[in-house]
Amino acid sequence: MRVFLTVNAYPGSDELPALRSYLEEIAPIPVDACIVADPGVIAMIREVSPEREIHLSTQANTTNWQSALFWQRQGIKRINLARETPLSGIRAVRDKVSAELEVFVHGALCIAYSGRCLLSSVMSGRPANKGECAHPCRWEYALVEQTRPGQYFPIAEDGGGSFIFNSKDLCLLPHLPELVASGVDSLKIEGRMKGSYYVASVVRVYRTALDRYCADPAGYRCDPAWLEELEKVSHRGYTSGFLFGQPGEGDQEYHSRYRRSHQFVGMVEEVLADGRAVVGVRNRMLDNDTVELIGPAMKTATMANSSMP
Ligand code: SF4
Repeated sequence: MRVFLTVNAYPGSDELPALRSYLEEIAPIPVDACIVADPGVIAMIREVSPEREIHLSTQANTTNWQSALFWQRQGIKRINLARETPLSGIRAVRDKVSAELEVFVHGALCIAYSGRCLLSSVMSGRPANKGECAHPCRWEYALVEQTRPGQYFPIAEDGGGSFIFNSKDLCLLPHLPELVASGVDSLKIEGRMKGSYYVASVVRVYRTALDRYCADPAGYRCDPAWLEELEKVSHRGYTSGFLFGQPGEGDQEYHSRYRRSHQFVGMVEEVLADGRAVVGVRNRMLDNDTVELIGPAMKTATMANSSMP
């Protein structure tokens, strides 16, 4: 496995000494690249670990070829384009820039430019730029007239309330052929605040689809079973985001519930010599619940809980 270390916060000057100590501490660790957004942090990594490969984070919000060219000239090996870049924009960057390009294909979408939004910092003290977003853009909002604090006027888009900032999650699985043809080098799956089950489920779907496409581009079809797999994990409805232009009404959610058809109940931690497995239980399992076993390949076994030893 290749390992990339995210250092994509925008630190204040008072945070730089701590950052330098951190970079010195991790200097001996042979990660494959650091993912960085702030030019000052890039400079500091170059001072501490000059040989370190640097990838530009989506939080640098690179949306056009001129900007990508600038970063390429700074020696950036891979540029993760802003999620707001449409397919035509990805192609335009590819035409002019030889640095590796990466695009987000799956996961939460920000209503503001990725990671530059201050809602979470202000409302919960958890800075999004530092990976701690509490997702307040998903919350329900009301209207308050300035001289009547505490009087909340409901603003209802429909009977469910009003969710003015509430984007669906990105899912570009059906568009993999266009993305591959656009010349991107890497597809990124968002893992911020996500558990191992979510990451494993989503990654194996995209891995399978990509391998299938590369083996036979002409015969490739997006398998509905893959989309079904993506429905099993917790998400907020899916959208193709900005890939084909500006998102519209249908790309928002109008409630604050998460969708998911399956619960994560446990992880196989060890397989014993006699073939039995030790499972670390993470959730309730009741008699006769149906349990699915998933692994890296796309073979999913199903069994009734009462049949488990
Ligand atoms: S609050 Fe929403 S828009 Fe802001 S950083 Fe978090 S996920 Fe993105």
